[in-house]
Amino acid sequence: MKVRVDELPDSGRVVHFHETDAWFSARIRSGEDAAEIALARPINVDLELVPEAEQVKLKGQLGGAVRLTCSRCLQDYVLELNELIDLILLHPLPEDTAEEIGLRPEDLDTEFFDGVTIDVDRVVAEQIFLALPQQPLCQPDCQGLCSGCGADLNRETCKCEKSETTSAFDVLRSVKLEK
Ligand SMILES: [Zn+2]
Ligand SMILES: [Zn+2]
Repeated sequence: MKVRVDELPDSGRVVHFHETDAWFSARIRSGEDAAEIALARPINVDLELVPEAEQVKLKGQLGGAVRLTCSRCLQDYVLELNELIDLILLHPLPEDTAEEIGLRPEDLDTEFFDGVTIDVDRVVAEQIFLALPQQPLCQPDCQGLCSGCGADLNRETCKCEKSETTSAFDVLRSVKLEK
């Protein structure tokens, strides 16, 4: 979805954005990510676009759910998305004032656009990626997989724990005996 800024009324406009997983997967570049991330539910966004002198304010709400792979136990899980969008898109600066860009307040939620069209697809996709955790976890205290036997420690007990303990004691005992 693209919105022309010169077609926005001064009071702004609310757009409704609804997309399914086909839209989302087309926006994931790396094949590795594509295998790990998918939409579990379609994305719904209500977005208000308000034009101002040198910028366009975007405010809204993003809802949906993504399917991720837990980085510890490697199980798929669903992450609910319920994100507030609060963004400012700045018009491009004339070249002779380019030096002043450095003087502008550095704000994570501020970026430039071409001044003509707002690419709502790109904005929404960015907001989804920003909401994804660096290290996906199915639950905060996920126990992960045992490096020895590969057991999923959230669901089953480790099968190698006993023999490890025994061998550790054996080593200790033999050390003591040598004294
Ligand atoms: Zn996990
Ligand atoms: Zn184990």
